[in-house]
Amino acid sequence: MQMVARDVYQLPLTPRSGVNAYLVGDVLVDSGYPLHTKRLLRQTASRTIHAHALTHAHADHAGSSRRLKETLGIPIWVGANDADVLRSGRAEPGAVPFGRAALKSYMKFPGVEPDRELREGDELAAGFIALETPGHSPGHLAYWRDEDRTLICGDVFFNMSIATTAVGLHTPPGFFTPNPAQNRDSARRLAALEPQVVLFGHGPPLRNPAMLADFASSLPS
Ligand SMILES: [Zn+2]
Repeated sequence: MQMVARDVYQLPLTPRSGVNAYLVGDVLVDSGYPLHTKRLLRQTASRTIHAHALTHAHADHAGSSRRLKETLGIPIWVGANDADVLRSGRAEPGAVPFGRAALKSYMKFPGVEPDRELREGDELAAGFIALETPGHSPGHLAYWRDEDRTLICGDVFFNMSIATTAVGLHTPPGFFTPNPAQNRDSARRLAALEPQVVLFGHGPPLRNPAMLADFASSLPS
C-alpha cells in the first residue's frame, strides 16, 4: 500500500500496477478480480474501512466486492447506471466480430446488491466527488478532488498497454467497452480538468497534466 496523494493509497493487486484498487480516506475504491480478496484484506488489515465504492461494475474492479461486503460488513456504492450489472455480475462487452459468448462468460463476476447508487457530484470521502463518465460502462464514475487536482479515472484511460504492460496512455480495449465514442467524450472531459495526479485502474500514477491533455486531444471525436 503506497500513499499517492493526501489520504489516498494505491493498492496494486498485480505486478507493475496492472490492476489497482485505492483506499480513499476510509472508503475502498474497487476490489480487483475475485482472486484478489485475500490480498485486499491483508493490505487493508490495519485500516478501518467504512464503505466500498466502485468506479464501474466489471470483473476486474468489482470481482472481490461481494466477499468484501460479506467479510467486512460494509456497504457498497456504485454508479446508478451500473447498479443492475453489479447485482447480476454480468457486464455488457463491446463490439467483437466473434466470440461474444466467451467474452461475456469471461466478464462474469459474483453479483452483489448495492447499498447506495452514486450520481454526479455525490461525495466519496477525503474531499472527492463522483463524476459521471460513461462509455466504458454505462454507470462508470471517476472521482475528483479539486483542492489538489487529484483524479481517480477508473478505466476512462489506461496507463499501460494490456498487450505488453508497457507504461503509456491508452483508451480501454474496445472488446470491454460498449460505447467507445462516449468514453472518448468522458476522456476529454477529465483531461480538461487538468489533473495534477491521475490514478488509473490499470497502470501507475501519472503526474503530467500536459501528457494527459495531449493524449485526449489526439483522440478521434
Ligand atoms: Zn478495468
